[in-house]
Amino acid sequence: MNQCPNFARIIEVLLNYGVDALSEKCQMLPGTPLKPMLAHPTKGVQEVLQRFDGIKFTCEFKYDGERAQIHIGEDGTVSIFSRNQENNTSKYPDIIGRIKNVKGEAVQSCILDCEAVAWDCEKQQILPFQILSTRKRKDANESEIKVKIIVFMFDLLYFNGKPLVTQPFVERRSLLREHFREIDDEWKFAISLDTSDIDELQNFLDVSVKENCEGLMVKTLEKDATYEIAKRSRNWLKLKKDYLSGVGDSLDLVVIGGYKGKGKRTGTYGGFLLACYDNENEEYQSICKIGTGFSDEDLQKHSEYFKQNTIPNPKSYYKYDSSHVPDDWFEPVQVWEVLCADLSLSPVHKAGVGIIDPVKGISLRFPRFIRIRDDKSVEDATSSQQVADMYSNQDQIKNQDKSGRDVEEDFY
Ligand code: AMP
Repeated sequence: MNQCPNFARIIEVLLNYGVDALSEKCQMLPGTPLKPMLAHPTKGVQEVLQRFDGIKFTCEFKYDGERAQIHIGEDGTVSIFSRNQENNTSKYPDIIGRIKNVKGEAVQSCILDCEAVAWDCEKQQILPFQILSTRKRKDANESEIKVKIIVFMFDLLYFNGKPLVTQPFVERRSLLREHFREIDDEWKFAISLDTSDIDELQNFLDVSVKENCEGLMVKTLEKDATYEIAKRSRNWLKLKKDYLSGVGDSLDLVVIGGYKGKGKRTGTYGGFLLACYDNENEEYQSICKIGTGFSDEDLQKHSEYFKQNTIPNPKSYYKYDSSHVPDDWFEPVQVWEVLCADLSLSPVHKAGVGIIDPVKGISLRFPRFIRIRDDKSVEDATSSQQVADMYSNQDQIKNQDKSGRDVEEDFY
């Protein structure tokens, strides 16, 4: 099912050939997007070394762009899919035009896992995600493209008629390097370093940040090193620069309501109510009120956008406390990346309620807005379980657990 997420094809095979034929007849095929593999957050080089103790692994730069799953079919058709399996082919005519340059002679069909990143050809430098996001999303005309892209290739999931996902990464990577070429300003392999030396690793992380990357992706090479479609797998760890202080990872949260601004912020929203997504109960659970991290321009933009998405009453699947009712409720239409100082148990917020504590949820302390994640759908927001895991993973909580004390704080 993960290898062939195409219901029409599955039903056709079930009806005509029965269940046993599924694995043979419903194979991965270029043209059908796969849900990508994702990584687990870690808090530092030390944690990476602990988790991968005795296992061979590699560290790659974690590029801050947009995931691009590039499919080449037997007939030469090229399609590019986003992290959400959206068809982005018409967004990237420039990439399509360069496919011939990257392919080695032996390539007949393939699925490449890559990151498309904005690129400054003159300075030979990666540009921030915000620049990439100014590109037209559909039907781009190559002659009008201003933001240049470079593609970093990091995995090969299918090659010449065969799925490679059950092979270890070391094999997939060597096929990738053997059959595909690096071209200046167009195609590169993700920069990587195979090391388990703590100083080398720390240094590599620092270099990645200096080169405008988000940090590192650390991946198993041999043991437990298959490609796990649609999973946040333990075979991949991410080590972000933000982890170096505060809470390990950023969260991706859904905006469900707005509070009218006062003083300088009169006329726009001055704060917003954010929620995580509970996929078990299919509900959005409030996690914090946020009013920090916005430029005046951000606030203006958010206000304009959300004023078009207000609803008279909260959705039945919004879980919140009556003390935090916003001035306006919104449709669940946008995901924001947010950082915070830490997570605490909350008598009012509902994130992960019932996981750590039977009645209390979890909330973020000192949340700050980082950016809009329009590559994520609202159901891909950080889940309640992930919030609970982040809460439990905090050193402070681990230590307090030992002494049996509880924390009870709420800042919003
Ligand atoms: P996150 O959104 O923080 O969970 O990080 C996962 C995203 O990092 C993936 O969806 C990719 O788009 C991106 N990424 C950047 N560089 C790499 C890399 N070297 N390997 C895998 N994913 C990467």
